[in-house]
Amino acid sequence: MELYIHIPFCIRKCAYCDFLSAPADQDTIAQYMDSLKKQLVKQAASFQNQKIDTVFIGGGTPTILLPDQLAELLETVQNNYALAENLEFTVEANPGTLTVGKVRALVAGGVNRVSLGLQSASGQELRLLGRIHTYDDFLHSYGLLREGGIRNLNVDLMSALPGQNIASYEKTLHRVLSLHPEHISAYSLIIEEGTPFYEQYREDERLRDAGEEPKILPSEECERAMYELTGALLFDYGYERYEISNYAKAGFACRHNIGYWTGEDYLGVGLGASSYIEGTRFCNTSDLREYLEEDFAPRDVQKLTKTDRMAEFFYLGLRLTAGVEKAEFVRRFGLSAEAIYGEVLKDLLAQNLLEDTGRNYRLTPFGRDVSNQVLYRFL
Ligand code: SF4
Repeated sequence: MELYIHIPFCIRKCAYCDFLSAPADQDTIAQYMDSLKKQLVKQAASFQNQKIDTVFIGGGTPTILLPDQLAELLETVQNNYALAENLEFTVEANPGTLTVGKVRALVAGGVNRVSLGLQSASGQELRLLGRIHTYDDFLHSYGLLREGGIRNLNVDLMSALPGQNIASYEKTLHRVLSLHPEHISAYSLIIEEGTPFYEQYREDERLRDAGEEPKILPSEECERAMYELTGALLFDYGYERYEISNYAKAGFACRHNIGYWTGEDYLGVGLGASSYIEGTRFCNTSDLREYLEEDFAPRDVQKLTKTDRMAEFFYLGLRLTAGVEKAEFVRRFGLSAEAIYGEVLKDLLAQNLLEDTGRNYRLTPFGRDVSNQVLYRFL
């Protein structure tokens, strides 16, 4: 089983962000940490015999916490959960929020993987995104983590930013590759409703979706070229693309995320965090006031039908380069994939969107380019 812990605080809201995160004062953060620890202890009682294979503390910005708050949180996890010996323990961090003391607290608390949100190495692009840090801040944080003993580092990058061109994106990739992180996540910017970016760029996005030339956002061809450049360059540097947007050196694929994509059970603790346990999905309240009042009752409880679970198995599993294993489908559902999705599979194979390796179904390179269209066929 996997454990996810949410820290919903950031120094400032980025202009494109629709995650459950916001700035908060120290008192609110301290109260939240009290509630969070109580929920961690309470939930642990229900999962005492469950081995936890991966822990992921995400946000928000978990490294906004003070060293003592980080240490107490990690201690609560260590003292209450049956952690696997080869535990993957990730914390998300934002450049500009790390100190020597925080890195020490992370390492002492068992964290062995850190995911650093860089997004771009261009100062202009970082300012436009509303990020709180510069590229030099990132280098400083990266150095602190390496010196502190973190041997498994992810760097998050974004492409298709307003005004971005291939040359500036390539510069970001080269700068990051020169540091040799073990893992790189590279996503295209999505213009989310309710964000300042939505107000600024939705018309441009509409033009792009209609196949016309956008004014500020990169064109569809440019976006695709950035995606292909990422794959080609990272391949040259020894990274394997193991998921549509995730690349890792051998042995460093993120086990926590692979767990999501392969339908493992996960327990989410903290504001708005969702869980998936034995075919039932539920989440915590997203209302901070309720959470501070220790209202931990599950919301939006949804028992997935077998049809839902089969669809998710394909929908999520095909994101992985290895694809979906036929035998595993039979083991989980007692039926062959062909018996359920025969027509869809035949159609996708005929269009060269899907490949049958004998053992697995997986996306072809063309299928990866239009992955959303392919994946929706299973829903
Ligand atoms: S740091 Fe991350 S979670 Fe926080 S506002 Fe920016 S994108 Fe959102």
